[in-house]
Amino acid sequence: MLSSSLRGQADYKPDPLVDVIHYEFNICLNDSSDAITGVTDVEINFSGPVASFSLDLKNINQAGKGMKISHVTFNGSDVTWTHSYNRLRITPSISESKGSHGNLEISYSGVPADGLIISKNKFGDRTFFADHWPDRASCYLPVVDHPSDKATVDFNITAPAHYEVVASGHLTEESDLPGGQKLTRWKEDIPIPVKVMTFAAASFATELVGTVNGIPVWTWVFPENRTEGFYDYSVAVKPLSFYCNLLGPYSYEKLANVQSKTIFGGLENAGAIFYFENSVTGQGRDEDLMAHEIAHQWFGNSVTEKEWHHIWLSEGFATYLAAVYREKNYGEENLTEIMRSAREKVIRSFERSPGAVIDTTITNLMSLLNTNSYQKGAWVLHMLRYEVGEEKFWKGMRLYYERYRNGNAITDDFRKCMEEVSGRDLEIFFHQWLYVSGQPDLKIRQEGDKNGNAVITIEQTQNYIYSFNLELGVKDSKGSRTISVPVKERITKINIKAERGFELTPDPDVRLLFRILPGDMQH
Ligand SMILES: [Zn+2]
Repeated sequence: MLSSSLRGQADYKPDPLVDVIHYEFNICLNDSSDAITGVTDVEINFSGPVASFSLDLKNINQAGKGMKISHVTFNGSDVTWTHSYNRLRITPSISESKGSHGNLEISYSGVPADGLIISKNKFGDRTFFADHWPDRASCYLPVVDHPSDKATVDFNITAPAHYEVVASGHLTEESDLPGGQKLTRWKEDIPIPVKVMTFAAASFATELVGTVNGIPVWTWVFPENRTEGFYDYSVAVKPLSFYCNLLGPYSYEKLANVQSKTIFGGLENAGAIFYFENSVTGQGRDEDLMAHEIAHQWFGNSVTEKEWHHIWLSEGFATYLAAVYREKNYGEENLTEIMRSAREKVIRSFERSPGAVIDTTITNLMSLLNTNSYQKGAWVLHMLRYEVGEEKFWKGMRLYYERYRNGNAITDDFRKCMEEVSGRDLEIFFHQWLYVSGQPDLKIRQEGDKNGNAVITIEQTQNYIYSFNLELGVKDSKGSRTISVPVKERITKINIKAERGFELTPDPDVRLLFRILPGDMQH
């Protein structure tokens, strides 16, 4: 889906001295070609002395797609600039000092190679959908294309009057212009990462589904799908309300759920989530997908990973919260089932290609969308919940959200919140589950004598020795019970009272990420 000329690199570091405060994107769309013209105003704070600084914007590639800059001003004056290797570099006439403030204006045009999908929808109508994740915005917008630099944003879209325009933020203007054009302006006052800034222009049917804690929830679907789409997307109020109660207030002005041409199943754009166009079926099948994308409004969008390699803070969180949404609304067995199948996926994925959740050797950003970030990340939260206890776990999640809301965080920030609420040292827990590849691979043996004395031996066969509690279900003619065994060594032996031939079920409640080596359950 990405051409090889695009950066897509996880090790890209933005200019540390540049902090973008606000973007104003003025974009003109037309029906006769896929070329856009743009004027972007960027408000920057400089955090140190700067002789020159840079933004990301793709040059014209061999296929003729990309952006050509015509004019750049800085603080209202012409300025020296270069645009090569997909970087716009500005050299102000006097160097900027620490704490100074600058306004950059860039005029440019071109056909986006990616990042703005200009195509026809399944009904043959021409549509425009921004699709920035992970760093595809710079295909057509001059930005610091990295999640660590959050900013407020205005989208001022001029397009033929037959288009409706939706975007992040709240609507501030809709005006007909001469020549059959219309200007639509949306303003997002909350700082968000570029990866989830968005707008779309298409024919839409729109409906106000309801409000949740004062937040309006809208459906935007293609007019041909009006009936089915209004039905399918109306479920969004349920997860939104659930997460508001569980985690703390929603951060944005509204929530729009939009039928789109995103290349993903869903893209969690701040305040305007895009779903793949066939997500509309009229069968009400979108609840899980919506629960995942809506959870991202808290984790990924509002609390944003400062570095790409900590993306489990976004994907693992959304995956787990969607599972908890099912647990709390449809019964505990839903969570157990989801975690059981996630565990199988994690184990299979490890067998194919070992690697840790936080793996700085991954350089391709799309490769971060893997089982470790989603399912294993979810498993880390699931285990943490039992490690610190239900009440403290949710207290820690709320503290982490409150503390880093509309900001950035890395894994250590989350760990410290959890340590604060639990009074526990969680270094080993976080290290073993996030920085070590794989999981405990256990051999479990049981022996019993006729007097009811039994020995259970648990052997960790993998290289790294983990520290965890293993729950064991024990069943004999006297009944069933669950015992919890602290495991810290390569070999752990415990003595229990159980009749010879007792039945042993490791982890009966699905609370540990581990693998039983085949053929090792010996009776
Ligand atoms: Zn996600």
